[in-house]
Amino acid sequence: MATDCIFCKLANNEIPTNLIYEDDNVVAFNDLAPQAPTHFLVIPKKHYSSLNEISSQEEFGNIFSVVPKICAKLGIKEYRTVINTGASAGQTVFHIHVHVMAGREFGWPAG
Ligand code: 5GP
Ligand code: ZN
Repeated sequence: MATDCIFCKLANNEIPTNLIYEDDNVVAFNDLAPQAPTHFLVIPKKHYSSLNEISSQEEFGNIFSVVPKICAKLGIKEYRTVINTGASAGQTVFHIHVHVMAGREFGWPAG
């Protein structure tokens, strides 16, 4: 756990949050500043600052395989998934997270 990392604190319940999903490896919670009617984040409990730090298929699988499960639970069939890697790509929190957004039309290419 990175002591100054807000998402580590959320994942370890040091900052109380309404989790929409939790298992041994990951948690999911609604984004503080939603960019769509549904906008939640999936993060590993273990700290990785970005996708560049993930080399294990297992860890990658952990954060992605829960996305369709959570969406099914929420009754969502169409959604946008995004991982921003690095500041120029829009990453602002340096603990890897998968954005899952739904409930509106999304443009392409992403801005
Ligand atoms: P990034 O820009 O790094 O891809 O995404 C970071 C996301 O985390 C943003 O969408 C931002 O709204 C969200 N966020 C930042 N701090 C918090 C927080 O304390 N709680 C929650 N729920 N979301 C946060
Ligand atoms: Zn962290």
